[in-house]
Amino acid sequence: MNKLTVQKYGGTSVGSIERIRRVARKIIETKEEYGQVVAVVSAMGDSTDRLVEMAHSITDRPSEREMDMLLSTGEMVSISLLSMAIEAEGYEAVSLTGPQSGIITDLHHKNARILDIDTKRIKKELDSGRIVVAAGFQGITEKRDISTLGRGGSDTTAVALAAALKAEKCEIYTDVDGIYTSDPRKVKNAKKLDVISYDEMLELAFLGAQVLHPRSVELARKFNIPLEVKSSFEDKPGTRIVEVDQVEKVVVRGVTLDEDIAKITIMEVPDRPGIAFRLFSELAGESIPIDMIIQNISRDNVNDVSFTVKWDHLGKALSISRRVAVEIDARDVSFDDAVCKLSIVGTGIANSVDAASNLFESLFELGVNIQMISTSDIKISCIIDKSSGKEVLSHIHDRFILNDIEIGEKN
Ligand code: ASP
Ligand code: MG
Repeated sequence: MNKLTVQKYGGTSVGSIERIRRVARKIIETKEEYGQVVAVVSAMGDSTDRLVEMAHSITDRPSEREMDMLLSTGEMVSISLLSMAIEAEGYEAVSLTGPQSGIITDLHHKNARILDIDTKRIKKELDSGRIVVAAGFQGITEKRDISTLGRGGSDTTAVALAAALKAEKCEIYTDVDGIYTSDPRKVKNAKKLDVISYDEMLELAFLGAQVLHPRSVELARKFNIPLEVKSSFEDKPGTRIVEVDQVEKVVVRGVTLDEDIAKITIMEVPDRPGIAFRLFSELAGESIPIDMIIQNISRDNVNDVSFTVKWDHLGKALSISRRVAVEIDARDVSFDDAVCKLSIVGTGIANSVDAASNLFESLFELGVNIQMISTSDIKISCIIDKSSGKEVLSHIHDRFILNDIEIGEKN
């Protein structure tokens, strides 16, 4: 009996001293049962938001390095208190910051990627019988500065540690009891899923289901780490995230709405090779992820190019687009932040001949205009007007998930 379990507790789960005590007891139970536990924790409650607010009350543009230094303190509060709570129950625990846990990242402050984990220290602590309480969300760059992994990044810390330490499993404890077919705050008929595949979960996470940090799912898939998302308040099974051959075949597993996006259009871009490369490489150079891209048919040797970005990248993306537009002789740049992205997700979409037409039919019946469309093997997304987003979401959810509409399969 020396199986290692990695558990992650989100901000709400450690939001008060009482809750920290309860989490301490849960961790101890796991230690008794399995032998070794690494608990990865987020900052208490919404303390990260409060740190962000404080920084912004000083300046609109705080340096990214200092932001990481500041935000990393949130997790240092929760790991030390949780270790004390475990020790108060008579068990040995040690809190470790990201750097102490050996989490080495690249130099991208506020959105760093883990490059390597030096597990020596954690292994030494586990071998001496201690419970390790590791700070989520943070690491140290190759230049020895504190870095953070992007908001919600503690999930990624947990999965990365589970992979590096070859843990038996990784449990993500949160304030919801699992993954739902849609956001239960927006869709009253949303249902909890017992299992979902890594690929489906990854799409849902990228599309704005805020339960898991997308990179944590990517890592879990890559290293085949069994993940389970469950409630830290109730003792019942959550949602297991597994390989695709272990889930029941359905066409659509989830329906999402991302209201956190904006569309940028560059008008009358000269139609010649290298222009798209020029624009999108500059955006990539600033680490701005681009989602959908549409280029219309050329007329008079010019195209309009539209693409979507996350809302908080809009400012940076606009200023780059405006500069590049001048340099390449495009006419103008416009943007629209009153848009949202509705998506249906499911591995069955790959084999369905009419998932797309069913979706478009539903949107037509609702009188909704589609501004952009993108499809992949496991999802179909449409950009639509934000004002009708939530209503449309419920309709599409009920049609595809509750009614389980008949969808033909490709031969
Ligand atoms: N405390 C960080 C945040 O609020 C990291 C996390 O919770 O995963 O984004
Ligand atoms: Mg969080």
